[in-house]
Amino acid sequence: MGFKIIEIKAPTGYSEEELRNQIVREAGTDDCTWQIENKSLDARKKSNIHWLLRIAVHGQGIGGTDRTPAASLVIPYKPRNKRVMIAGSGPAGFFAAFVLQKAGFDTVLIERGAEVKKREQGIARFEKTGEFSPVANYSFGEGGAGTFSDGKLTSRSKHISKERDFFVTSYIEAGAPAEIRYMAYPHVGSDNLRSVVKNLRDQYQQYGGEIRFETTLTDLVLQHGRVVEAVIGGETMAADYFIAAPGHSAYETYRMMIGRGVAFRTKNFAIGCRAEHRQENINRAQWGIEKLDGVKAAEYRLTSEADGKHPVYSFCMCPGGMVIPAATSRDINIVNGMSNYRRNGRFANAGCVAGIHPDQLAGRKVTPLEALSWLENLERSFFEFSNGYQAPFCTISDFIHATEPRQIPETSYPLGLKPAPLWKMLPPVVTHALREGLKDFNRRLRGYGDGILLGLESKTSSPIQALREKTGLCEGFENLFIAGEGSGYAGGIVSSAADGIKIAMQIIGKED
Ligand SMILES: Cc1cc2nc3c(=O)[nH]c(=O)nc-3n(C[C@H](O)[C@H](O)[C@H](O)COP(=O)(O)OP(=O)(O)OC[C@H]3O[C@@H](n4cnc5c(N)ncnc54)[C@H](O)[C@@H]3O)c2cc1C
Repeated sequence: MGFKIIEIKAPTGYSEEELRNQIVREAGTDDCTWQIENKSLDARKKSNIHWLLRIAVHGQGIGGTDRTPAASLVIPYKPRNKRVMIAGSGPAGFFAAFVLQKAGFDTVLIERGAEVKKREQGIARFEKTGEFSPVANYSFGEGGAGTFSDGKLTSRSKHISKERDFFVTSYIEAGAPAEIRYMAYPHVGSDNLRSVVKNLRDQYQQYGGEIRFETTLTDLVLQHGRVVEAVIGGETMAADYFIAAPGHSAYETYRMMIGRGVAFRTKNFAIGCRAEHRQENINRAQWGIEKLDGVKAAEYRLTSEADGKHPVYSFCMCPGGMVIPAATSRDINIVNGMSNYRRNGRFANAGCVAGIHPDQLAGRKVTPLEALSWLENLERSFFEFSNGYQAPFCTISDFIHATEPRQIPETSYPLGLKPAPLWKMLPPVVTHALREGLKDFNRRLRGYGDGILLGLESKTSSPIQALREKTGLCEGFENLFIAGEGSGYAGGIVSSAADGIKIAMQIIGKED
């Protein structure tokens, strides 16, 4: 059996039969099987937009020999009689627990929020009535922050190919579209993510894993650098290893850990607004036309640099998606974005944020606790402005020219807009950087300036980072690990899951 890689250009609306014919022609035989390895849209020339496909073909009479398959994650199983407690069921915590359970540990996964069905109901009620639920919201609950997202699975992290492969395979086995293995910009969609998360939980439980919802890690009991017990609700739980994977929104968990001697430092992070446009305008800007057969909705990724000092960039674009109220507690008003698999909503949204260091904002060196308080106060100030969850908004043009917004435009945001001088509500250094960035984006993407901005976008990345060893162990501790976005070393679904998997493999290595 021979093997060959072929590169194919296919029209955007190609049919399976057309693809098959093209593959057979290129392979020189119809006695073959094939697998798409990569699929990306080439939209560099608006007059000739097409898919680029890299395809591995196996068949009789084809010349080459197959490649050695890439090494995959090997999880060694044995009964271990060791207990691991993991706090947080986001991608980092869940995948750490899943891998450890498969390896024969007794794992208990605790999650402060609700299971996904109840979470879905709490979010629906919030969007209808404005009644916030601390256990069922966009940040907290089963599957973590990414469950109600666009489910983009891109990651710039290096050296995570085995972990990524394990993650992607697990997602596909749990019902995610198989194309996430080969799309250049894969996404699952919020509608699919909910069942993926539930199916993964079922598998974890079938392996014997225990999961407790609406259960919060509130304290750690220490003895000579070892965590001996975790305080959860009113009870304590002993374990051999503890993994904290709380994401970066659980400020009180951070504070508790800092109080117990876990060392953190401040780091660069990003804040800004979420830009919303009509999807048809983004399609026209990117493709020259409003609809393209075989492609869901146009995306954009924009970067700029204000005064050569402050990076400004679009973040977490959700084509055909919705801007959502992403409050993490009752007195906070922030926004984020999500979309369903079909990406067929009328609007496109993306974060538009400026990178900054907490010290630059304060004009002096700040501690991690001060950085957290600063961010939390900013998030509260947006709540106080609206006295609720209406999103403070202005047009991009208003922001650039400092003019008060006059009309309330159409939006996907469910809890209403409130005209606001966003340029005054953000720190001056951020406003300046965003203005320069927005002007640049408008030059580079036709019609970008016709969009609106909704505030506040504050969850792009964490302003603090744990001091941890390469293994993920918190410095100065023997058995306390911190994983995922809350550690400050990961950001996004894939890199957070990979971080959790790596930590699980470290613990397995210690016990083998
Ligand atoms: C609306 C939205 C859309 C997003 N879209 C994308 C996207 O398309 N692609 C992408 O890659 N990334 C996206 N992200 C970011 C991504 O979701 C996060 O980077 C990722 O989920 C981080 O994983 P994590 O496991 O480290 O933390 P999280 O997913 O934040 O999970 C942490 C979990 O810990 C729980 N928890 C916190 N404190 C405690 C405690 N003390 N005790 C018990 N449980 C606790 C929380 O309830 C939460 O469920 C999005 C985020 C949001 C909010």
